[in-house]
Parts: sequence; C-alpha cells; structure tokens
Amino acid sequence: MALIVQKFGGSSVADAERVKNVARIVTETYKQGNDVVVVVSAQGDTTDDLIAKANEINPKAAKREMDQLLTAGEQISISLLAMAIEGMGYPVISLLGWQAGFNTNSIYNAARIKNIKPNRLQAELAKHNIVVVAGFQGINRYDDLTTLGRGGSDTSAVAIAAVLKADKCQIFTDVEGVYTADPRKVENAKKLKEITYDEMLELATLGAQVLNNRSVEMAKKYGVELEVLSSLNPVPGTIVKEVAKMEKMLIRGVTKDKDVALVSILNLQDTPGVAFKIFSKLSSKNINVDIILQSFGRDGTKDIVFTVSKENGPLAVELLDGMLDDCKIVCNTEVAKVSIVGAGMESHPGTASKMFEALYESNINIQMISTSEIKISVVIDADDADRAVAAVHRAFIPND
Ligand code: ASP
Ligand code: MG
Repeated sequence: MALIVQKFGGSSVADAERVKNVARIVTETYKQGNDVVVVVSAQGDTTDDLIAKANEINPKAAKREMDQLLTAGEQISISLLAMAIEGMGYPVISLLGWQAGFNTNSIYNAARIKNIKPNRLQAELAKHNIVVVAGFQGINRYDDLTTLGRGGSDTSAVAIAAVLKADKCQIFTDVEGVYTADPRKVENAKKLKEITYDEMLELATLGAQVLNNRSVEMAKKYGVELEVLSSLNPVPGTIVKEVAKMEKMLIRGVTKDKDVALVSILNLQDTPGVAFKIFSKLSSKNINVDIILQSFGRDGTKDIVFTVSKENGPLAVELLDGMLDDCKIVCNTEVAKVSIVGAGMESHPGTASKMFEALYESNINIQMISTSEIKISVVIDADDADRAVAAVHRAFIPND
C-alpha cells in the first residue's frame, strides 16, 4: 500500500461533470489499496472572478481581506469533491488549509508555508478516509487566513507529499504533461517523458504554465518526485525528478514570456555607485529585475538597460526619473523573452549560435541576450515572439 498525493487544478474541477470525473480518479486510486490525499484548486475561473468582484467594490482592498475572500474558492471545491466521493460510497473528509495544519508566515497574498502539523491528516488517513485538502491557503500566527500566491495549490500538494513522505505526488491538469513548447501554438511540440527539477524550474520561471515554480523548488529540496498528467486523458504524463537515465536531448523546451518591459537609461554619468543606486532603489520597492546590460563608458557616460515585469516598467521609470538627472529613461513594453532550457547545453558548445542562427534565418532582431548554465534567453519584439519560438523549436527538436 502506498500513500499518494493527487492535486487537481481549477480546470479539472470546473463543473459538476469534472468534479465527478476527479472523484472517479481518486476513488480508483483508493480502491487499489492506497492512502489518498487530494489537493484541489478553486473551480475554473473562480479566483479571477473573486478578484474582479473585489475590484468592483474596492480596488485597493487590504490584502488580509483579499485572502479572506480568495480562500472561499477552494472551500467550495473541496466540499463539492467530498460530496461527489461520498456519493460514490467512499469514506471521505474535506479539510481547509488550517484544518490540515498549514501554518504560514503573515505575508498576505504571498504567504510562505512555515510548517504543516500533520496530526489531523494522519488521523484521518488512519481512519481510512480519503482526505480532500484546500490548496493555496493556510493560517498565520494571528489566526488569520492567508494565501500562497497565484497557482499556489501545486505548492500545497508538494508540501503535503514532503511532510507525509508520500510515495508519489501526481499533479493533474488539462494537458498531458510538460511539452517542449506550448502544444497549442507549436505544431511539433513533444511531450517529455522526464525532466530534471532544475530544467523544470527554469521552464516554470520562464513562462511554461504547467507547474508553479515554488512547488518545483520545494519538490527538489525535499526530493518529492512529481508526475504531471491529464485528468481527462489517462495516459502517462511527465515525471519531474533528479537526473536519471533520461532521453538524450540537448534542449528540453522553448518558452515565451510576454510579461516583460525593457527599461533603458541612456547617457548616465559614468561614476562609481550608479548601478548600486539604481538597483537598490528598485529593490527597496520590491521590483524584481531580470536581465541587466551595461554598456562601456564613453565620454563620461554609459547606458544601463534592464528588464522587469510589464506592470513594473512604468513604475521603475517613475522611480528613477525622480532620482537621476541628465539622462534619458525610456520603457518599451512591446517586447518578449524567448528562452531555451536544457541541461544538455552545459556540455555542448554551439548551442547559443544555433539559437541565434534560427532567429537570424527568420529575420528576427535580438535586443538582449542572457545565459545561464542550462538556459539561454533573448529579448525580442513582442510581435516576433511566436515566430521565434517556432523557428527555435524547429532548430532543436527533431521532426518525426
Ligand atoms: N485558485 C488559486 C489560483 O487560481 C490557486 C491555484 O489555482 O493553484 O491562483
Ligand atoms: Mg486556479
């Protein structure tokens, strides 16, 4: 007998039919003699709808009240799923985050799990209950409800799997696994059998929307092996784990991220400390900077160019405008970041030039380049992004 954690995203529980479908998958697993903990997200677009409702009333509502509101989404789906499982004749209990022992810090809307007290979960499993837990939520030391940030249910599931030392953590979604590129956009996109935590982390961070990146970090830290698979089509998915005997592939995936703004500071004074001044200002306002490029100094001036999220672009300009004189600051939000990810490139020279060649052949201009051991990113015109993904994918992933 094994202990299995299964997580179902919002689209997998979107309506009554889908909830019943999830109940069938869960009870099938239970029937085979396994202990089962199920983590669910809010149904369909519920979380977005709740946010819209709040915005109609007070767009600047306190984050505490937002969490009070948003946790309701998962409360609906756990109770409905428990009712469906009960209707099929199986023992089941639903638990909110706090009932399942999720203690978090006090950063409303973006709380981090501090610990999970497993007593209640263990007691319910000992009674042979199927345990359905609300994802994305916990409680802080003031007994207030908190949420873990958008997409946080993946992290809830991995955290439970880590604490209970589950044999398996299955993340069910509406696609069949992790692909080399978005299968809705790229014709020849392939489903991966396996991927390493590090590769998955890069893909998740770079805009592949299958898994939340914090959940991958946590899975890596605690060695929780993940399987990403479809709740609608029962075929094997993608396994996320530490390196193993994997399919030989130079590149595991190509991603596109349109949530990018390019901020350029031109003709800055070329004196010591300016970079420090700029980036400490941004970090003091919690603005996350991604790629940074600085030109050589000439005639006592230099340029610094960097990327932030679209939302933070204008904000960054405003902050810096008030602080720096004699330079020109512009923000371009019509850009996108296209990246390739693969542990294979570490030991494979020529990967970057192959990517650049593919872009050149499609007549796509590169504005910025950034590399790490297992990733190469370029910033390009937003209008070129889909063409760029297709061209780069064609260059690296064989057609069959
Ligand atoms: N319901 C939350 C959201 O939409 C959490 C999740 O789906 O993981 O972000
Ligand atoms: Mg959701």
